[in-house]
Amino acid sequence: MNIQRTFAIIKPDAVKKNAVGDILTMIHGAGFRIIGMRMLEISVEQAEGFYAVHAERPFFNSLCEFMSSGPIVALALEKENAIADWRKLMGATNPANAEAGTIRKKHASSIEHNAVHGSDAEDTAKFELSYFFAGYELF
Ligand code: GDP
Repeated sequence: MNIQRTFAIIKPDAVKKNAVGDILTMIHGAGFRIIGMRMLEISVEQAEGFYAVHAERPFFNSLCEFMSSGPIVALALEKENAIADWRKLMGATNPANAEAGTIRKKHASSIEHNAVHGSDAEDTAKFELSYFFAGYELF
């Protein structure tokens, strides 16, 4: 398996509850290299652009308002099999279904306020990395 890159966000709920340090420790503990990291706030419009594939879903407006409700941490992660391994470390979308040892089991409070985001495929990882990072910002 080749080295792969994926895109992650520590969402506003996790930043607000001071879980950034613990989540970064879990990321390193699982063998990821952090090759890009930025704390920022995004507008509702920027969240809508990021989540455009979800535009038809009933929770779209709520999700975009949540994602622009406070600071987030955008991360570029690298390791073998990074996309699938990061989704495994995140846990299920709904924390009620998340396995023990996952970030969402530990830090998510609801299906929407679920602590972290992760790309679900190579093409979305590419789009999402380029939405938040220029190539020269990745190490
Ligand atoms: P993910 O890939 O596990 O993040 O899940 P999805 O791509 O299906 O959904 C994107 C994000 O939308 C999730 O991480 C949640 O923050 C939110 N979300 C997903 N399903 C629901 C839902 O049924 N209700 C609400 N309010 N938010 C949801």
